[in-house]
Amino acid sequence: MALSGRADDPKLEQLARAVFAMFPQCHRCGQTIARFEDADVRVHVQRAVHRGPCPPPPIVERVLPPASER
Ligand SMILES: [Zn+2]
Repeated sequence: MALSGRADDPKLEQLARAVFAMFPQCHRCGQTIARFEDADVRVHVQRAVHRGPCPPPPIVERVLPPASER
């Protein structure tokens, strides 16, 4: 990552937090990233993705079977 040499630049950290505040959705899976610590913020493109693999999408369980089953 191009920014690695400046990872502890406080201004960059501030900018990354500002970007995360504006764009908390993961650009890869579309889910909202829960915490700044879980985000890998790409400051240059003002986008964030999950740090590491994205969590599985939330599953909405079907409680009722389709009426046509019986
Ligand atoms: Zn994601």
